[in-house]
Parts: sequence; structure tokens; C-alpha cells
Amino acid sequence: MQANIQANVQEVYQDIRAAALRTGRDPQAVKLIAVTKYHSGEILRKLSAAGIVHAGENRWQVAREKFLHTEAGDFTWHFIGPLQTNKVKYIVPRFDWVHSVDRLEVAQALDVQAEKLGRTVNILLQVNVANEPQKHGFQVEQLKPVILDVLQLHHVKLRGLMTMAPRVHHPEETRPVFRALQTLLLELQNQFGDASFNQLSMGMSEDYRVAVEEGATMVRIGRKLTMAKGESLGGGKAT
Ligand SMILES: *Cc1c(COP(=O)(O)O)cnc(C)c1O
Repeated sequence: MQANIQANVQEVYQDIRAAALRTGRDPQAVKLIAVTKYHSGEILRKLSAAGIVHAGENRWQVAREKFLHTEAGDFTWHFIGPLQTNKVKYIVPRFDWVHSVDRLEVAQALDVQAEKLGRTVNILLQVNVANEPQKHGFQVEQLKPVILDVLQLHHVKLRGLMTMAPRVHHPEETRPVFRALQTLLLELQNQFGDASFNQLSMGMSEDYRVAVEEGATMVRIGRKLTMAKGESLGGGKAT
């Protein structure tokens, strides 16, 4: 069945707006990032027509094909997947944001490459809030020393934190994780006094409403935008 991307995008924008207003937030402060990893570059045209301006990819090999499409230039690109230092040379020319910095070496490699190209890359530190052994990301207590080092780099701009919530049975169960990330951001903001360190990338297809209520400024949404009418999210996570 055909996906009605336009309708899906409208629905997600409305949900974001409602969740923001419920908690007294400005809906404009939340960026919707369409994650296109399950689809070929054809999807970009539809997303662009539906008003999407931010796109996310989690693997360079998959992203590469997308950049051959003329519409690729219509988007601000966000890299959201695990990143090896020998891949940053592909990422820096194309992506304005990297959400998934999970080691100091990755930030340093991005900085070196960005300097070569005369660019600045916005980065977020990925945090493993729930301390899940299989997940990427810094432990909470590792963050302060890492931030001190990252602030020494001139071609990456530290903009905030990112997390992936654990798999749960009900989206409400993700709330404590999102709340913890927001609290952490505020603490670190106070400590390091940097007003541009203000981004919280959290929330996916199942839990973006909760994430926006808890302060998300970027939600990364894949299946919910591209699924066909009548299809359910499925994919292991119960809703
Ligand atoms: C795939 C992916 C998403 C989007 O997931 P959906 O459940 O399809 O919305 C968000 N963030 C990251 C890091 C991803 O890899």
C-alpha cells in the first residue's frame, strides 16, 4: 500500500505542536528530522513536498545514494548513527549536524576534517542514560571531562545531547530517561555557561510525544512518517 507521506507528516507536526503546547513550550522550538534509512532517495522528493527540511541518516553507505538525488540539497542533513573515525571524511562535507558523538576521538576527528574544509560541524554528545550495555553513548559521569576537551576544538560546535530510549512496552515508560537527559543538559549548561549548548535530540516514532513534553528540540522519526495508511509501527516495539 502507498504511504501517504503528506498526511503522516501533518499528523506528526500536529502531535509535536500539541505536546509542546501541553507543556507550555514553543512548537517552533522542535525540529522534525525525517529519518530516511529504510528508503531509497526517491523518498526525498515526497518528504520535501510535504514540508520536511531536516533529514537524518544513520549509515554513510545508505546516505551516499541519497546525495545523488537533486532533492538532497533541499535538506539540512543530520548524521545519527555510530561513527568510526575513518568515516568522518565522508560525513563532514555533507552533514551539518552529528548527533551520535560517543567518543572523544570522534569529536577530534570531525574537528580535523572540518578544519580542512573550512567548515564547522554542530555536534551532540550521545548519552547512554539508562546504562544499557549494548547501547552506544557516554555514561553520564564521563560527560564533564569530555565536554572540557570538546570545548577546546574550534571546528566542532557542541550544541547539546542526544539519547535513544530503551525498548519499552509503553511510550510513557521512556519519560524518566528523557527527563533525565533534560536535567543533565540544564546542569551542564549552568556549569559551562554556553547558551548555544541547548539542543536535546530525543524521541522516535513511538515516543516523540513524550520526548517533546520533556523538552526535546529535535525528534528523529522514520517509520511513522513513511508507513502506509492502516499500517502499524510494529518492528519489535509494542505501542
Ligand atoms: C532509525 C533511527 C531513528 C528513527 O527510528 P523510527 O523508530 O523509525 O522512528 C531515530 N534515531 C536513530 C539513531 C535511528 O537509528
